[in-house]
Amino acid sequence: MLTQYHIEIMLASLGGRFSPRAMSVIIQANVGQDRLAGQVGHDEFHFDNNAFEKTYAYIEEQRALVVSSLRSGDAKSAWQAFGRFLHSVQDFYAHSNYITLWVDRFDPSTGSGQAALPPPPEVDPLDPSLIRSPDLRSGKIYLPLDGLYFIKRLRPLILRLIPRDSHAWMNLDTPEQGFKFDYAMHAAIKRTVIEFEKTTEGFSGEMCRLFLDTQSK
Ligand SMILES: [Zn+2]
Repeated sequence: MLTQYHIEIMLASLGGRFSPRAMSVIIQANVGQDRLAGQVGHDEFHFDNNAFEKTYAYIEEQRALVVSSLRSGDAKSAWQAFGRFLHSVQDFYAHSNYITLWVDRFDPSTGSGQAALPPPPEVDPLDPSLIRSPDLRSGKIYLPLDGLYFIKRLRPLILRLIPRDSHAWMNLDTPEQGFKFDYAMHAAIKRTVIEFEKTTEGFSGEMCRLFLDTQSK
């Protein structure tokens, strides 16, 4: 997802919960994952290349870092680790076919007796049968073509050359990718709230105060 959409997701999901300075560190760490050095060789930052297990391990490693940083009183490191792994969970909806699998259960025309497609805010971000589905895939990165895809002028040519299981074909990074983009955005917003709740579940009062930075509000 492009930077502006990661920021939109962060503000829509967590905007009121943290102090402004905490939020700004979390967002910076989140969008920093898309820096050039974070794009190459870091499938786990973006759920690319079907690296599901590697990405889940990365998320839990960063979540553990949030907890250990807060225990040692280092709120800034906790905010950074939190922002980093939220980037991965948000990219899941833009880089995998989860949204396509979810949407395909419904009938877009409502003519066949299948249920009609619910509006984007009703998307389920964690349907267990889809999360574990053997059909779940994420876009493969074919270099250099997937890199050149970001040059808009070259896009039509790249799409003719690159396989269908590529990031270029599969991504829901921007509204230009069609109606499924809104579903990816809403799923990412809901999932971010779920990850916030999961991360803070066992926090002591002092850890909550440090993490949310309530005194500097
Ligand atoms: Zn990314």
